[in-house]
Amino acid sequence: RIVIKDVKKAFDDVVVLNDFNAVFEDGEFITLLGPSGCGKTTMLRMIAGFEKPTKGEIYIGETEVSSSKTFVPPEKRDIGMVFQSYAVWPHMTVFDNVAYPLKMKKMDRASIKEDVESVLEIVHLSQYSERVPSQLSGGQQQRVALARALVAKPQLLLLDEPLSNLDAKLRDSMRFEIKEIQKKLKITVVYVTHDQMEAMTMSDRVIVINHGDIQQIGAPPEIYRYPANQFVADFVGKIN
Ligand code: ATP
Repeated sequence: RIVIKDVKKAFDDVVVLNDFNAVFEDGEFITLLGPSGCGKTTMLRMIAGFEKPTKGEIYIGETEVSSSKTFVPPEKRDIGMVFQSYAVWPHMTVFDNVAYPLKMKKMDRASIKEDVESVLEIVHLSQYSERVPSQLSGGQQQRVALARALVAKPQLLLLDEPLSNLDAKLRDSMRFEIKEIQKKLKITVVYVTHDQMEAMTMSDRVIVINHGDIQQIGAPPEIYRYPANQFVADFVGKIN
């Protein structure tokens, strides 16, 4: 369970997020949706621990990871992440890319092999484990990044526009795959996108943000049928 309580973020004097309050339940697929610059990436980076809130508290499970008193660094937050530029290591094989986080944890070789093979199966890359990224398609490389984020079995997966570099067809199939993986691993996902179709088709609940303010939190059908205000109606109603 993730609790975000009265979180505010300003860079110098510029307020990027006003009072952000939300609770994400275990196993939920939550999407932060809003136009460019609304503050969604900043919120994700605060959950990850790459940014500190100016004010407010963040809890992951029972742990207070961020407040005026405490700050747990990113590597201790038990989180998997994939960002827009997913940056797999070009000189390493698929296997070594995915094994990397486990090697950093000094896990023994046999356990690493077992865990990497199991996650490669989940993302349908078992037969590609000895290839380097340049020998893979964009979607396959994206799945390597996903496997690397999942291999340490995090309780929480953060995805920041992970499909934006892919063509439309690949994007559709990756959406489906991400959902499948999430259901299979029963993992909590916080997903950032400005694409309302993506948000509406993948999420259990969507948080619509504009200019640093939450406009509405709800399940996709609820947001479609009962938009809280004109902004939500316009933004969600618009099909790209
Ligand atoms: P996009 O979809 O374009 O990534 P976003 O909704 O994710 O947009 P953020 O990246 O969270 O938006 O940025 C919100 C605002 O905060 C923007 O106006 C941005 O310029 C500003 N901002 C983000 N990071 C910093 C920083 N390190 N220093 C100063 N301003 C920043």
